[in-house]
Amino acid sequence: MSNIRSYEERLKGFDWSVSREVLGWTEGELLNIGHMCSDRICANGGADRTALIWEGFGGKKQTYTFDDLRVHSNAFAKLLQDQGLEPGDRICIFMDKIPSLYFSFLGILKMGGIAQPLFSAFGDESLEVRLDSAGTRAILTTQKHVKKVRKILDRLPELKHIIVVEGNEAKLKDGEVFFDVEAAPRVEEFDSFRAEPESPSVLHYTSGTTGQPKGAMHVHSSVWGQVLTASWVLDLRPDDIYWCTADPGWVTGTSYGIIGPWALGITQCVLDSGFTSKRWYEFIQDNRVTVWYSAPTAIRSLMRDGEDLVRAHDLSTLRHLASVGEPLNAEAVIWSEKAYGLPFHDTFWQTETGAMMIVNYPGMPIKPGSMGKPFPGIGAGLLDLETQEPVDEPGKVGLIAFRPGWPSMFRRYWKKPDIYRSKFAGAADDAMPDELRTDESLWYVSGDRASVDKDGYWWFVGRDDDVINTGGHLVGPFEIESALVEHEAIAEAAAIGKPDDVNMEVVKAVVTLNPGFEPSGDLELSIMNFIRKRLSPLAMPQEIEYVEKLPKTRSGKILRRYLRALEWGEEVGDLSTLEDD
Ligand code: ATP
Ligand code: MG
Repeated sequence: MSNIRSYEERLKGFDWSVSREVLGWTEGELLNIGHMCSDRICANGGADRTALIWEGFGGKKQTYTFDDLRVHSNAFAKLLQDQGLEPGDRICIFMDKIPSLYFSFLGILKMGGIAQPLFSAFGDESLEVRLDSAGTRAILTTQKHVKKVRKILDRLPELKHIIVVEGNEAKLKDGEVFFDVEAAPRVEEFDSFRAEPESPSVLHYTSGTTGQPKGAMHVHSSVWGQVLTASWVLDLRPDDIYWCTADPGWVTGTSYGIIGPWALGITQCVLDSGFTSKRWYEFIQDNRVTVWYSAPTAIRSLMRDGEDLVRAHDLSTLRHLASVGEPLNAEAVIWSEKAYGLPFHDTFWQTETGAMMIVNYPGMPIKPGSMGKPFPGIGAGLLDLETQEPVDEPGKVGLIAFRPGWPSMFRRYWKKPDIYRSKFAGAADDAMPDELRTDESLWYVSGDRASVDKDGYWWFVGRDDDVINTGGHLVGPFEIESALVEHEAIAEAAAIGKPDDVNMEVVKAVVTLNPGFEPSGDLELSIMNFIRKRLSPLAMPQEIEYVEKLPKTRSGKILRRYLRALEWGEEVGDLSTLEDD
């Protein structure tokens, strides 16, 4: 049955308990995400349904049912228990998107551990910072990545267990444990940890776009937010083949690449190989993908490769597209409608929010370039930049903020209570994390800016740190970048402030060009004029720099702070998440 309803209908009498109804959940059932994503689906008749369609490099392909998911996650849960690990222990998953990543994630949750997924392309330093910060007790990795762990082991006294889940057992060092789940005996029964709603589940490190990455701790009851948004916003239905392109090292890859869809019993696909537009289209075609959740960085690359490539594939199974991670330019929405016959639906949220917050629903008209409207039950507000009081004047820019209390909200930054507290406007100096998360008189301030139009649609402006102050006017980079990519020559763009004697800052654009375009004086003039006419003389870049690639985080976000620091000759700060390949 379709999940599509109008926004107004969804809002009427909204209560989060509707999420339980969506799952057919009854009070007294076990609330453990690992169990809910596997055992519960099997117990409700889904044992033989396909849970995971996996493809790796070189076209390797495997398919797993929900019963496989149940048994393999049991095996990981038992292994970890046998190793002496206990509920509450931080257990890191450090591997490519291989099937064992998914099995072990659920297995950790089943035995009560806190899953700490980290992106496998991290080097040893990035890894060390996060394992040290979390006091991680065990790490699950592969032979390909274990070298990085060995290098830092001496400096991590709390890290007691190294478990290698793929590779050659003979090449392991003393003390390392080898575990190939598919060769190991089946574990038919595992008594999952009786989680409380507030029991910790996942510790996610943020993307590090604005500075030192922070560990956002989530709990088992986050599932209510993830399930309901997966159902209403991604519109997942039982017969869907769903593809979330995010790596579980980032929150999208767990909230919507594991928890939400599998708790709903949906078939997911995973592609564990490098990006090319062609490879992605083949993957959609071969697996008959129906719902696709991706990110602007990928969408812009697909645009760059053009519509002919789209037409060379059969993508007719697609019925719903959504995007997250960065602002989605209006042009990308319009292009996708033209190229795929379907618009991408932008969704705004953060590691900290655990689930979608401001969204474009399938049942709501899209205004290209807008993030949509707050999800029902989310008390979203815009706060004045100075006073932090709510503003409700259409078009006025403010800080995006949310009333605490939504189910998937993060419960703390790991070992950083002061930074956690500083995120809540109006919090007392000595407020404890558990008071903050339930106090609906406070605002959780996101660190992003937006405006709201007269129809209640939200428009992203930029991160607090990225806003450009030129001649006393605050200019959001997103508007300029969106206009820049509408120029026929430009593929991707970052707008930053550069120092200026008169105006304090002026706009500088750093851009990559579409195939067939070369930098030239004429092109520069054409771009400047284009922006001046579209936006204003104020927003017009005073300088345009052409680059082959924009600096991005490993999760695909443009690192404006890096470009800005280079421009101002300042310290670039923590770059552990800078993409370098
Ligand atoms: P850090 O907090 O370490 O600086 P980060 O904020 O990039 O890193 P994430 O939690 O992965 O880490 O990303 C959330 C941020 O991504 C949001 O705060 C926002 O800036 C941006 N973002 C995500 N989705 C959207 C969207 N749909 N539109 C605009 N911005 C978005
Ligand atoms: Mg952030």
